[in-house]
Amino acid sequence: MERLTLPPGGAAAVDEYLEYRRIVGDDDGGKLFTPEEYEEYKRKVVPMRLQNRLFVSWRSPTGMDCKLVGPETLCFCTHRYKQHKTDFEVLPQQRPIDLPCRVSGCLCRAYHYVPLNGTQPIRCRCKHLADQHSAAPGFTCNTCSKCSGFHSCYTCACGQPAYAHDTVVETKQERLAQGKPVGRDVPYAAVGGLTGFSSLAEGYMRLDDSGIGAPSVEVLDAPVTAMDHPFLKALREPSSSSARTLADGNAVGTSSQMSSLRRPEEDDMAFFERRYQERIKMEKASKQKGKAPLPSATKPS
Ligand SMILES: [Zn+2]
Ligand SMILES: [Zn+2]
Ligand SMILES: [Zn+2]
Ligand SMILES: [Zn+2]
Ligand SMILES: [Zn+2]
Repeated sequence: MERLTLPPGGAAAVDEYLEYRRIVGDDDGGKLFTPEEYEEYKRKVVPMRLQNRLFVSWRSPTGMDCKLVGPETLCFCTHRYKQHKTDFEVLPQQRPIDLPCRVSGCLCRAYHYVPLNGTQPIRCRCKHLADQHSAAPGFTCNTCSKCSGFHSCYTCACGQPAYAHDTVVETKQERLAQGKPVGRDVPYAAVGGLTGFSSLAEGYMRLDDSGIGAPSVEVLDAPVTAMDHPFLKALREPSSSSARTLADGNAVGTSSQMSSLRRPEEDDMAFFERRYQERIKMEKASKQKGKAPLPSATKPS
């Protein structure tokens, strides 16, 4: 395996560069800003992004956001979200808010999400693919004359046809009014609808109020069975092994015991993340003691 070695301070330089890219995107036209230009740019855009961020999602008639649009999400025009206008000094008053494509020559007037079927473009009822249609308003087919505008009956995972969904562009206040998550305020370019750890998952898998929502307490508290995901089964084990560790007089301290109770302010991802981190910490602790083997390494003696 190849190893990447960095000179002293190298990792920090890489982090700095990635941070620069997340903030500047392609706005430097391919030529790195000087430190002065970068500061000037930040002074201009950061307040705008913190105050006037627009959230973009592809919404089902059921109200679920089946897709949260992020910087790399493709538009019907085949360009990415980050290539559209996303920074506003003043939020537009009219609705819907149109986010035109900034690629020169592109006819796209407003960002418009179109789902993929796996990795393939979906088909219109005229039988031609999404990308064979014009990105100009009306979305007519470039290949045939019988198409009256792109219209796909492709069924989304939510059970509704693609044509029944809308690309929705909304402000933080508009989103909050609907009880949808808004994440934290970030200075980065074209963050769009991404608001958390699970934002890239499809709506029917996303356990927050922009997706299918949190499962009921009964589901979360149900005993783990052989049918469950290995991740959950692994999480179940420590209760017995930590008890034994403690009985051995090899106490790792109560603080490192798994806390399987959900804290009231925690969302699901945070809950699973915390339990996972606790398990890792506990395994590390038991390894250091040199005795108590991992649950999976238990062998009859
Ligand atoms: Zn475009
Ligand atoms: Zn576009
Ligand atoms: Zn068509
Ligand atoms: Zn066609
Ligand atoms: Zn859907």
